[in-house]
Amino acid sequence: MSVLIYAENAGGKFKKSTFEAVSYAKAIADQNKTNLIAISIGDVAKDDLVALGKYGAEKVLNVSNNKLKNFVNQAYASVIAEAANANGADIVVLSNSFSGRGLAPRLGVKLQAGVADGAVALPEQNGGKFTVKKTAFSGKAFAVVELTSANKVIALTPNAYKVVEGGSAAPVEDFSVEAKASDFKELIKDIVRSTDKVSLPDAEIVVSAGRGLKGPENWGMIEELADLLGAATACSKPVSDAGWRPHSEHVGQTGIAVSPNLYIAIGISGAIQHLAGISSSKVIVVINKDAEAPFFKVADYGIVGDAFEVLPKLIAAVKEYKASA
Ligand SMILES: Cc1cc2nc3c(=O)[nH]c(=O)nc-3n(C[C@H](O)[C@H](O)[C@H](O)COP(=O)(O)OP(=O)(O)OC[C@H]3O[C@@H](n4cnc5c(N)ncnc54)[C@H](O)[C@@H]3O)c2cc1C
Repeated sequence: MSVLIYAENAGGKFKKSTFEAVSYAKAIADQNKTNLIAISIGDVAKDDLVALGKYGAEKVLNVSNNKLKNFVNQAYASVIAEAANANGADIVVLSNSFSGRGLAPRLGVKLQAGVADGAVALPEQNGGKFTVKKTAFSGKAFAVVELTSANKVIALTPNAYKVVEGGSAAPVEDFSVEAKASDFKELIKDIVRSTDKVSLPDAEIVVSAGRGLKGPENWGMIEELADLLGAATACSKPVSDAGWRPHSEHVGQTGIAVSPNLYIAIGISGAIQHLAGISSSKVIVVINKDAEAPFFKVADYGIVGDAFEVLPKLIAAVKEYKASA
């Protein structure tokens, strides 16, 4: 028995959510008094692979196969399942990222495993029961699921578990696989980033705005605040429907689900469909001129005020703070 963590990279670099997932997987390995093996697929520098040991990986399997350079759901799932079987891993951990959400159910089928996607806490293991707390109904609720199968797949929500350092360098082994032609029914030829800005699903801080901003010409102050805070920008659905912002920024039940440490909502009413995508945020700050706006009910901090007066003051205060820090 062992635990296998899929260490996802973006453009050859591990993201913070990967270190969170490795730390989380290490804690599960410790719960079960077993070892943690990481698997990396694609072109990642040797030093970065070795450094996964810092977060608890005791061995790193490196798959560098030209066919697997870019993410292909079915092919990656086959490789991870093969590594799990070859290493006797009965628990596979992933990040609940875009790729992780595609991989988890496929791994569930390949390993005949129960799947807990969107996990937000360590599993509880009492009296032979293995239960995991996870988000449900697009983040509107939490569910506690019991995984009764021998093999288990857990996809961890980004920002739900802290990065824990303490381990040392991990040995890296090549893991060679025969990439099966039947796994490549679709091929990603190239990935072109649409922006160099912080990626929304991984962002630790999100500055989001709604129809209260009146029009696309007023987004300069949203971008300025986001740049100052190192945040990603987001918006409500009507804003992207109106073409004020790209659809890739639309957050909510029918858009992207985010779980940042800080979500700042400006001129957004807080409709249930919007809240569905942001409810796992750690701290929610709401700026709205209507004191009765539903968003205030879920806010940790709220400012009742006109965004066009509050935002310039907030931007000035952040600048002043950064200058003095
Ligand atoms: C099936 C379905 C799916 C949906 N999915 C989503 C989804 O995924 N994401 C999503 O966001 N919505 C979704 N919606 C739409 C959702 O119901 C709301 O209509 C939408 O979230 C409202 O967007 P908003 O808050 O930007 O606009 P509004 O509801 O118009 O609210 C604007 C807010 O701005 C405030 N405001 C106005 N002027 C100012 C000012 N100067 N300063 C400060 N505050 C100001 C107002 O008080 C108000 O609270 C969905 C709806 C349906 C039916």
